[in-house]
Amino acid sequence: MIEIDRVSKWYGEVQVLADCSTQVARGDVVVVCGPSGSGKSTLIKTVNGLEPVQQGLIRVDGVTVTDRKTDLPQLRAKIGMVFQNFELFPHLSVRDNLTLAQIKVLGRTKGEATERGLRYLDRVGLLAHQDKFPAQLSGGQQQRVAIARALAMDPVAMLFDEPTSALDPEMIGEVLDVMVGLAQDGMTMMVVTHEMGFARKVADRIVFMDHGRIVEDSQADAFFSAPRSERAREFLAKII
Ligand code: ATP
Ligand code: MG
Repeated sequence: MIEIDRVSKWYGEVQVLADCSTQVARGDVVVVCGPSGSGKSTLIKTVNGLEPVQQGLIRVDGVTVTDRKTDLPQLRAKIGMVFQNFELFPHLSVRDNLTLAQIKVLGRTKGEATERGLRYLDRVGLLAHQDKFPAQLSGGQQQRVAIARALAMDPVAMLFDEPTSALDPEMIGEVLDVMVGLAQDGMTMMVVTHEMGFARKVADRIVFMDHGRIVEDSQADAFFSAPRSERAREFLAKII
């Protein structure tokens, strides 16, 4: 479903991705972890073309992201992305947040978009909040709306970049529960997170990055029980 093949990227002289290769099979959950500045956000953003790369090949659902002729807005409509800072539109109600892109990008009618949006809002447990504005919701609730909004677009895969790291501890669980549900329903997911409880529960593989390189790409069980690299061992010792 997602193929990253020998990808390198530089900012000026500084190399931020070095010969990175990995895949996410349909229905799999891959967790990307590693120290700050190791290139996790950069890597995940290359998947929907938000970060252009100088070398290598990226393919999603048969579409070559790194091909200059690829229609990136059209590709992005198929890939859900959820960031650290729940980027809802502050001036729109929850319901309008859920329907806007469905109407503008997918050409759905308002009725169709509303029906679909509210179905996913219900799924994240927030149907009663449809008339509120983002500022009237907690961080955890905003993040769940952001996930529902992405799902309403019928994505072929979901990308998450530290979706819980800006949340107060008591709200982290409610967002992770939604993500666990998605994983169990078979969504293809690439998730940057330090939530190793989540990773142990649902990840098929763990990609560990350091200094722009993929240092380890292992089955989740193997990664946790016997990380191969010293860097991964140090990292795990610090965060678990
Ligand atoms: P964190 O855990 O802090 O989110 P990360 O693993 O997501 O870190 P990235 O944000 O991908 O790391 O950054 C990788 C490297 O690229 C860092 O050294 C960072 O300083 C550098 N970098 C990121 N964006 C830019 C930019 N726009 N211009 C120059 N360097 C950048
Ligand atoms: Mg990051």
